[in-house]
Amino acid sequence: MAVRAIVISGDPVLHSPAASVEEFDDDLRVLVQDMYETMDAAPGVGLAAPQVGVPLRLFTYSYLDDDDRSWRGVAINPELWITPVPAGEADEDEDVEGCLSYPGERFPLLRSPSAILRAVDLDQKPFEIHAEGWLARIFQHEYDHLDGTLYVDRLEHFYAKIATKVTRKRGWGVPDLSWVPGVDNLED
Ligand code: ZN
Repeated sequence: MAVRAIVISGDPVLHSPAASVEEFDDDLRVLVQDMYETMDAAPGVGLAAPQVGVPLRLFTYSYLDDDDRSWRGVAINPELWITPVPAGEADEDEDVEGCLSYPGERFPLLRSPSAILRAVDLDQKPFEIHAEGWLARIFQHEYDHLDGTLYVDRLEHFYAKIATKVTRKRGWGVPDLSWVPGVDNLED
Protein backbone atom coordinates (compact mmCIF):
# COMPACT_ATOMS: atom_id res chain seq x y z
CA MET A 1 0.00 0.00 0.00
CA ALA A 2 1.24 3.46 -0.79
CA VAL A 3 0.24 7.04 -1.22
CA ARG A 4 0.57 7.74 -4.93
CA ALA A 5 1.51 10.97 -6.70
CA ILE A 6 -1.49 13.04 -7.84
CA VAL A 7 -1.26 14.30 -11.40
CA ILE A 8 -1.77 18.03 -11.96
CA SER A 9 -3.92 19.65 -14.65
CA GLY A 10 -2.17 19.62 -18.02
CA ASP A 11 -1.17 15.97 -18.13
CA PRO A 12 -2.93 14.13 -20.98
CA VAL A 13 -4.19 11.40 -18.60
CA LEU A 14 -6.50 13.99 -17.01
CA HIS A 15 -7.84 15.27 -20.31
CA SER A 16 -8.67 12.02 -22.11
CA PRO A 17 -11.52 9.53 -21.54
CA ALA A 18 -10.54 6.57 -19.37
CA ALA A 19 -11.08 2.92 -20.36
CA SER A 20 -13.47 0.48 -18.70
CA VAL A 21 -12.05 -1.83 -16.06
CA GLU A 22 -11.86 -5.35 -17.50
CA GLU A 23 -9.55 -7.16 -15.07
CA PHE A 24 -10.77 -7.51 -11.49
CA ASP A 25 -7.43 -8.80 -10.26
CA ASP A 26 -4.92 -8.14 -7.48
CA ASP A 27 -3.51 -5.13 -9.33
CA LEU A 28 -6.96 -3.53 -9.20
CA ARG A 29 -7.24 -4.23 -5.45
CA VAL A 30 -3.85 -2.62 -4.84
CA LEU A 31 -4.83 0.38 -6.98
CA VAL A 32 -8.05 0.87 -5.00
CA GLN A 33 -6.25 0.57 -1.64
CA ASP A 34 -3.67 3.09 -2.80
CA MET A 35 -6.42 5.42 -3.99
CA TYR A 36 -8.13 5.32 -0.57
CA GLU A 37 -4.80 6.01 1.09
CA THR A 38 -3.95 8.85 -1.30
CA MET A 39 -7.44 10.39 -1.00
CA ASP A 40 -7.26 10.29 2.82
CA ALA A 41 -3.73 11.71 2.90
CA ALA A 42 -4.54 14.59 0.53
CA PRO A 43 -7.14 14.92 2.14
CA GLY A 44 -9.99 14.79 -0.33
CA VAL A 45 -13.60 13.57 -0.57
CA GLY A 46 -13.04 11.80 -3.87
CA LEU A 47 -10.29 10.58 -6.16
CA ALA A 48 -10.51 9.22 -9.70
CA ALA A 49 -7.97 6.75 -11.11
CA PRO A 50 -6.74 9.15 -13.85
CA GLN A 51 -5.65 11.47 -11.03
CA VAL A 52 -3.03 8.91 -10.02
CA GLY A 53 -2.08 8.43 -13.66
CA VAL A 54 -4.18 5.31 -14.30
CA PRO A 55 -6.58 5.74 -17.26
CA LEU A 56 -9.33 3.46 -15.93
CA ARG A 57 -12.97 4.12 -15.09
CA LEU A 58 -13.12 4.03 -11.30
CA PHE A 59 -13.16 6.45 -8.41
CA THR A 60 -13.13 6.36 -4.62
CA TYR A 61 -15.19 8.64 -2.41
CA SER A 62 -15.38 9.36 1.31
CA TYR A 63 -17.87 11.81 2.71
CA LEU A 64 -19.75 12.37 5.96
CA ASP A 65 -23.12 13.96 5.19
CA ASP A 66 -25.13 16.44 7.27
CA ASP A 67 -26.95 13.55 8.98
CA ASP A 68 -23.61 12.04 10.04
CA ARG A 69 -24.01 9.22 7.56
CA SER A 70 -20.69 8.04 6.21
CA TRP A 71 -20.42 7.43 2.46
CA ARG A 72 -17.24 5.64 1.54
CA GLY A 73 -16.53 3.29 -1.28
CA VAL A 74 -15.26 2.63 -4.75
CA ALA A 75 -17.31 2.98 -7.94
CA ILE A 76 -15.98 0.87 -10.81
CA ASN A 77 -17.28 1.32 -14.38
CA PRO A 78 -19.88 3.78 -13.08
CA GLU A 79 -22.88 5.25 -14.84
CA LEU A 80 -24.37 8.51 -13.64
CA TRP A 81 -27.77 10.04 -14.18
CA ILE A 82 -28.36 13.63 -13.12
CA THR A 83 -31.28 16.00 -12.99
CA PRO A 84 -30.75 19.25 -14.95
CA VAL A 85 -28.29 21.76 -13.54
CA PRO A 86 -30.32 24.70 -12.19
CA ALA A 87 -30.28 27.97 -14.09
CA GLY A 88 -28.52 30.97 -12.61
CA GLU A 89 -25.09 31.72 -11.27
CA ALA A 90 -22.96 29.67 -8.90
CA ASP A 91 -22.94 30.87 -5.30
CA GLU A 92 -19.51 31.94 -4.02
CA ASP A 93 -20.12 30.26 -0.65
CA GLU A 94 -22.45 27.33 -1.27
CA ASP A 95 -21.17 26.08 -4.62
CA VAL A 96 -17.42 26.25 -4.14
CA GLU A 97 -15.57 23.23 -5.45
CA GLY A 98 -11.94 22.10 -5.45
CA CYS A 99 -9.87 19.40 -7.12
CA LEU A 100 -6.73 17.55 -6.04
CA SER A 101 -5.47 17.86 -9.62
CA TYR A 102 -5.88 21.63 -9.39
CA PRO A 103 -4.54 21.91 -5.84
CA GLY A 104 -4.94 24.82 -3.50
CA GLU A 105 -7.58 26.56 -5.63
CA ARG A 106 -11.36 26.69 -5.31
CA PHE A 107 -14.02 28.05 -7.66
CA PRO A 108 -17.81 28.15 -7.58
CA LEU A 109 -19.67 25.88 -9.99
CA LEU A 110 -23.34 25.01 -10.27
CA ARG A 111 -24.06 21.28 -10.17
CA SER A 112 -27.15 19.17 -10.36
CA PRO A 113 -28.65 18.79 -6.86
CA SER A 114 -29.30 15.06 -7.31
CA ALA A 115 -27.70 12.14 -9.06
CA ILE A 116 -28.08 8.38 -9.36
CA LEU A 117 -24.83 6.43 -9.40
CA ARG A 118 -24.73 2.86 -10.67
CA ALA A 119 -21.45 0.96 -10.52
CA VAL A 120 -19.85 -2.27 -9.37
CA ASP A 121 -17.51 -2.81 -6.43
CA LEU A 122 -14.26 -4.80 -6.29
CA ASP A 123 -16.24 -8.07 -6.22
CA GLN A 124 -18.11 -6.94 -9.36
CA LYS A 125 -21.25 -6.61 -7.27
CA PRO A 126 -23.55 -3.92 -8.69
CA PHE A 127 -24.81 -1.14 -6.42
CA GLU A 128 -26.85 2.00 -6.79
CA ILE A 129 -26.81 5.22 -4.76
CA HIS A 130 -29.37 8.02 -4.97
CA ALA A 131 -27.31 11.03 -3.98
CA GLU A 132 -28.38 14.54 -3.02
CA GLY A 133 -26.49 17.73 -2.38
CA TRP A 134 -22.78 17.48 -1.75
CA LEU A 135 -22.61 13.73 -2.40
CA ALA A 136 -24.28 14.29 -5.77
CA ARG A 137 -21.66 16.97 -6.44
CA ILE A 138 -18.81 14.61 -5.55
CA PHE A 139 -20.16 11.96 -7.92
CA GLN A 140 -20.50 14.48 -10.76
CA HIS A 141 -16.98 15.76 -10.16
CA GLU A 142 -15.39 12.29 -10.06
CA TYR A 143 -17.45 10.96 -12.95
CA ASP A 144 -16.27 13.92 -15.05
CA HIS A 145 -12.67 12.86 -14.42
CA LEU A 146 -13.39 9.55 -16.18
CA ASP A 147 -14.42 11.47 -19.29
CA GLY A 148 -11.35 13.71 -19.19
CA THR A 149 -13.18 16.75 -17.82
CA LEU A 150 -11.96 18.84 -14.89
CA TYR A 151 -14.32 21.09 -12.94
CA VAL A 152 -12.25 24.08 -14.07
CA ASP A 153 -13.29 23.18 -17.64
CA ARG A 154 -16.90 23.83 -16.62
CA LEU A 155 -16.49 27.21 -14.90
CA GLU A 156 -18.52 30.26 -15.85
CA HIS A 157 -16.61 32.71 -18.02
CA PHE A 158 -15.65 35.04 -15.13
CA TYR A 159 -14.05 32.23 -13.09
CA ALA A 160 -12.65 30.47 -16.15
CA LYS A 161 -10.59 33.58 -16.90
CA ILE A 162 -9.18 33.56 -13.36
CA ALA A 163 -8.40 29.84 -13.65
CA THR A 164 -6.53 30.44 -16.91
CA LYS A 165 -4.36 33.01 -15.11
CA VAL A 166 -3.77 30.65 -12.19
CA THR A 167 -2.73 27.86 -14.56
CA ARG A 168 -0.21 30.17 -16.23
CA LYS A 169 1.12 31.63 -12.97
CA ARG A 170 1.67 28.20 -11.41
CA GLY A 171 3.24 26.77 -14.55
CA TRP A 172 0.55 24.11 -14.89
CA GLY A 173 -1.09 23.01 -18.12
CA VAL A 174 1.90 20.90 -19.16
CA PRO A 175 2.49 17.12 -18.87
CA ASP A 176 4.25 15.27 -16.05
CA LEU A 177 3.48 17.57 -13.11
CA SER A 178 2.34 15.92 -9.90
CA TRP A 179 2.39 16.27 -6.12
CA VAL A 180 2.53 13.76 -3.29
CA PRO A 181 0.22 14.25 -0.28
CA GLY A 182 2.23 14.46 2.93
CA VAL A 183 5.40 15.27 0.98
CA ASP A 184 4.67 18.36 -1.10
CA ASN A 185 2.86 21.32 0.41
CA LEU A 186 1.06 23.15 -2.36
CA GLU A 187 -0.71 25.67 -0.14
CA ASP A 188 2.44 27.83 -0.05
ZN1 ZN B 1 -10.97 16.44 -9.18
